[in-house]
Amino acid sequence: MTTIVRNLQLVRDRITTACEAAGRDPASVQLLAVSKTFGADAVREALGGGQHAFGENYITEGVGKIIALRLPGSLAAPADEPNTALQWHCVGPIQSNKTRLVAEHFDWVQSIDRLKIAQRLSDQRPAGLPPLQVCLQVNIDGGANKSGAAPGEALALAREVAELPRLVLRGLMSIPDPAPDFAAACAVHENARRLFDLINASGELPAPLDTLSMGMTADLEAAIHAGSTMVRVGTAIFGMR
Ligand SMILES: *Cc1c(COP(=O)(O)O)cnc(C)c1O
Repeated sequence: MTTIVRNLQLVRDRITTACEAAGRDPASVQLLAVSKTFGADAVREALGGGQHAFGENYITEGVGKIIALRLPGSLAAPADEPNTALQWHCVGPIQSNKTRLVAEHFDWVQSIDRLKIAQRLSDQRPAGLPPLQVCLQVNIDGGANKSGAAPGEALALAREVAELPRLVLRGLMSIPDPAPDFAAACAVHENARRLFDLINASGELPAPLDTLSMGMTADLEAAIHAGSTMVRVGTAIFGMR
């Protein structure tokens, strides 16, 4: 067994244990493997360990990997079948001049923090691809230098993004600063959970949000405790960057 495959198993065990502690079904939390800075070989290894969803922060780096792994014979899958083994999530900041690359290559975008970026992604999503699945990034702990919509603006942004024809609004994503302990981490993640519930309770969206993306290597237990449905883990799977 490779290190990455063993690490994946350890992370899945952490997710299961955290779900049990929180009285939740382990199947209610998805694992996104964040492969930024690691190469296509690392992704292939994780795929061999049963991991299919991958997150990338840097758009040109991510697209390079997506294309490399899409080439016939680049995966341990029949070379003559369309390669749908991998699902790619963009989790990093997106500048306007990168939206076309994102729209043409990724399956999900979790880092939408303003309407203009969402509009460009919708306009540029190729007709032959399914709609882009998106989350709004929310600056839940108010860090001054952080991207993400302010919590108070999230519902209005959600309403507008939900109307865009080539996007499907799935949920919220947050990246809080590291917290000193479990209770503090839970408190921040619970704020995101409350915002998620509030948006759904508003009844103002065409369909309820089903994805609350929060929790990373250091705080996935606290995020699951607070209601995360998707943890994004890099270091614990691929190693230090
Ligand atoms: C890098 C990154 C992660 C993974 O962080 P780790 O601490 O390595 O698990 C998750 N989400 C986002 C948005 C990231 O940029």
